[in-house]
Amino acid sequence: MLITCPYCGPRDVIEFTYQGDGNRERPDPASQNFEAWNAYVYDRLNPAGDHNEIWQHSGGCRAHLRVVRNTLTHEISSVAFVRGEHTSTPRRKAEGKS
Ligand SMILES: [Zn+2]
Repeated sequence: MLITCPYCGPRDVIEFTYQGDGNRERPDPASQNFEAWNAYVYDRLNPAGDHNEIWQHSGGCRAHLRVVRNTLTHEISSVAFVRGEHTSTPRRKAEGKS
């Protein structure tokens, strides 16, 4: 699997570290709502299809990236810096090829 880092270009997934589900909303750090913190720490989506994920290019520029990956095909439809500076759109595979 290749992930196209907006800064470094296409790189093998071995250079990246999965950082978790990109859909979670972190509660206010001062919050003592234990149900909200429990949900933030333990609840995970497990979709069949596109999923927002956070990856770090730990073997490269070390940027944190927001990746939309199809969990069934591993096709990546978009990659962006978490802080929203640049976006890359990887080329899609030609239809009919796998
Ligand atoms: Zn990079």
